[in-house]
Amino acid sequence: MKIENNKKKIYKLFLLPYLIIGLITVSIFTIFDNFILLHPTKIENIILNIFNIFIYPAELGILLYLYFKKTGYLDEPRNAVKDYDLSEIYTKKYAGIKYRESNIKEINIYIYDLNDLFHLSPAGIFYSKALKILIQRDFLDYITPDEMDAVVLHEIGHFITNSGLIRKVLAFAILLAGGAIIFLLLTIFMYGVQLSLLINLIIGFLTVIIILYSIFTIIFNREELSCDIFSIKELKKDYISTALQKTSYYLSKNIIGHRYMIFRIKKQINKRLKKIEEYNETNKFK
Ligand SMILES: [Zn+2]
Repeated sequence: MKIENNKKKIYKLFLLPYLIIGLITVSIFTIFDNFILLHPTKIENIILNIFNIFIYPAELGILLYLYFKKTGYLDEPRNAVKDYDLSEIYTKKYAGIKYRESNIKEINIYIYDLNDLFHLSPAGIFYSKALKILIQRDFLDYITPDEMDAVVLHEIGHFITNSGLIRKVLAFAILLAGGAIIFLLLTIFMYGVQLSLLINLIIGFLTVIIILYSIFTIIFNREELSCDIFSIKELKKDYISTALQKTSYYLSKNIIGHRYMIFRIKKQINKRLKKIEEYNETNKFK
């Protein structure tokens, strides 16, 4: 039932709009090529080509984002339930304080059972104006109240620095470059012209993707560390390290499969733990 619904949704909310918008774009190009810009200059030609390469992946990215937003993938998982008691406790504890420029009116804690890797917890959701923090039901048994404070503050750190924004922009740029490669491959496949130029372009876009991905990783790791440090500063004690260790342990105990992803997450957590230790040593938080 659920799967059928999702299939319908993909068609209605993503495939159909993409087809329509794609067709409109193609028509506009055709009209432009045949009736308006009959003798394009070199520069006009270059601009047109760039537009041609990027417009379809850009449309794809925007529609994909809207699709994820509409279907609720970017919100809390479907089985998440707001824990009113915990929400009240943490709203009293940490909301209302002015953090730099932002102030948080409400802290919403959602409890859920994990059934996809899309919503690993603990995690925050910052797409809406209110801060939502997701915690897996059985993860609560693992951590102490102090560690829970540290986790909540870590997510507040993301919320006030608007962490998601740069990540979204970079992800979109990676998608554009990836889409451009597919477009160029299709062009080679369909017309087989100017092979050397197209291959050079593809290598160029691959390089762009590698560079963007590296920047993405650096920014991601920096943000995580700065939120960890934020929690240490607020609590004046490091409770985040043990919370992270427990997260790592929890993941390997409770998630079956996805070995490579778990391996990557654990590696990233270990790196963070090292950096936190360095921070604690230089700032005497030990
Ligand atoms: Zn984080």
